[in-house]
Parts: sequence; C-alpha cells; structure tokens
Amino acid sequence: MPVGTLASVKGMPQDVLEELGVQILLGNTYHLYLRPGVETVRRMGGLHGFMSWDRAILTDSGGFQVFSLTELRKVSEEGVTFRSHLDGSSHFFSPESAMAAQIGLGADIIMAFDECTEYPADRERARTSMEMTLRWAERSKKYFEEHKGEVPWAASNRQSALSTHGLQIPRSARDDSSFKSREPVAGETQTLFGIVQGGMDRELRRESALRTVEIGFPGYAIGGLSVGEPRELTREIVESTLEHLPAGKPRYLMGVGTPEEIALYAQMGVDMMDCVLPTRAARHGLLFTSEGKVSIKQAQYAQDAGPLDPNCRCRVCSRYSRAYLRHLYASNELLGQVLNTVHNVTYYLDTMRAVRHAIQLGERARFLSEQSGPKP
Ligand SMILES: [Zn+2]
Repeated sequence: MPVGTLASVKGMPQDVLEELGVQILLGNTYHLYLRPGVETVRRMGGLHGFMSWDRAILTDSGGFQVFSLTELRKVSEEGVTFRSHLDGSSHFFSPESAMAAQIGLGADIIMAFDECTEYPADRERARTSMEMTLRWAERSKKYFEEHKGEVPWAASNRQSALSTHGLQIPRSARDDSSFKSREPVAGETQTLFGIVQGGMDRELRRESALRTVEIGFPGYAIGGLSVGEPRELTREIVESTLEHLPAGKPRYLMGVGTPEEIALYAQMGVDMMDCVLPTRAARHGLLFTSEGKVSIKQAQYAQDAGPLDPNCRCRVCSRYSRAYLRHLYASNELLGQVLNTVHNVTYYLDTMRAVRHAIQLGERARFLSEQSGPKP
C-alpha cells in the first residue's frame, strides 16, 4: 500500500496511481483528523469522495503517530491526551474516538486503537502495554459494532456532495472490472482489523496474537515493529507472530520495508504492508532499481544517457535519461520528485506482482506434482 498520509500520495495524481495499478492506499487518521478534520471529509462522502478515489483505502488508528509525533502526551486507561504537532492544541484519542474518526473518514479497512510500545522496553513494560492494547481492542470492536452503520457511504447515509456538483470519477477508472465499484450496497460496512503488540518478546507476541484472535477480527496486523530495532529482530518477531495468526485471514505487517524486505515478508506469509519509503526516498532522490539503489544526485549521472532502470517498463524509465533526472533533482524541479515517485511506486508494485506470480507458480507446481505423483 502506497502511503497517502493527507489523502494524497505526495506528487501523484489519482489517475496516475490508477494507471500504475495501485489497488489500495493508506491514509493516516491522526493527520486527517487534524487537517482538514473528520467532519469535512465525512461531508464530502468520506475519503473516497473527497480524494476522488474509487479503489480501496485503509486508515491506521492514529495510535502510531500519537506515540511518535506528539510531545506532552499523557496515556491513561481511558485514552491518550496529546498536543498537535501543527499548532500545539490539545486533543484526546480513545479507542472510541479513534473509531468514530475512522468511521467518519470512511476507509474500507480501519484499525483498532493500540498503544505502539516504544523500543527498547523491558518485559514488564511491554506486558503492561500489551494488556492495555488488548482492552483497547475490545473497546474498539464494541464501538465499531455499534456505530458501523454511520459510515458516510452506507446506502442509508449517502449524500454525495460530489455528484450534486457534477464531479465524477472518470469512467475509465470506474469501469475497470478488476476493482469493485463504490456504489452503495445495503448493509455494506467497513472492516475492522485487530493489532498484535508485545514489544520484542516472542512469548508476549504469542499471547497478544492468541488473545487478539480470541476477540475476533476479519484481519490482523502486526504493529510495534520498525521502531528502531535491528532488522534481524524485526524478522524474528514477524516470523514468531505470524505462526499464531490464522493464515486464512489477511495478515498485515505495519510500516515495512525495503523491496527486499517486502518480498521476504510476503514469502513468510504476510499479505499486506505499507511504507513511506518508496515515496519519501523518491523525493530525496533515492531510487530503487533492479540493479540496486541509485542516488540520482551523484555527479556520475550528469552525462548518463541511459534509463534509470533498463529493466523497468514505467513511463519514466521508458522516456527519460538518468542525466535528465539528475538535472531535475539538482535544480530542485518539482517534476523530478514526481518522476522519481512514479518510478519507485512502480518498482514496489512490480516487486509485489512478481511475488504474487511466484506464489501462483508455486501453487501450480505443487498442484501438478500432486497430479503426477505416485499413485497408490
Ligand atoms: Zn521505472
């Protein structure tokens, strides 16, 4: 999932995202709650209407940003009081208010409110934090079950500000049959995922996974990783958590990673991931290619007439030279950031397409070998 923090994947118009084959994006509840505010987005038909995006959206619970971006926060059983990183104003998130915000934003998949345990944390601290996340998961689910009919695109609540004013998502996007249309269906609601915490302790992770599954969600996320721990430890914790989550439901690893990491985690059984790396790195001139990382600012590319990645079929690699991309970066031209982002997002999507293809081939190979195996 490319990250569209403020209802925008930075530098990328929605029609380009559609063309690249993006199936789902992530929006950040904390940021959207502060600006433009949940009520504005709700009145515009939820995030889909507001940003004119017909395909799937996931919002996080706001927990991660509250714990990583804000200062002067105060955590209690009830929730978290924090100061906005924009203007210092005081706000409060609880499992209930985080659910209300995500229902108002109207993404397809929303996340239970959790406490992202800091790193490092000792065992006692990780346990206390995990226990609170479990209680918050129950409260999140309870609130969601009672209020899920209030989503802005529910058949009964639909008051599309956009269609009244003649704004439409282009037919080409709506008619792509591989994506479900956003026409309201009676009784259709959002999907709430639970989040596993437990710090860097395998035993706590196991317990958190089992007890979150006991509460019962249609999908599960592994949270609290990529918080400064060594990569090897991330891998270990992911591996030991995954085995306690049902393989038949989506398993979502939050906040990773490099192209190599997403391929590795997908191979281990992770179904969904999100990361700002491809888009953020692109804006800083760091490009992921089939030949390794390229830092386009380097002088060695100033006269390089070759494509950024000879093995990439994206509109940037098929049209522009490394010399031109290097020039755009050096001149701080907006176009440079846009083109770099198009390539990096393509590279990530291609990586996932290759992973899916490998899974399909593997399954086909297994099927064939079972067919041709020794008969009793
Ligand atoms: Zn490319």
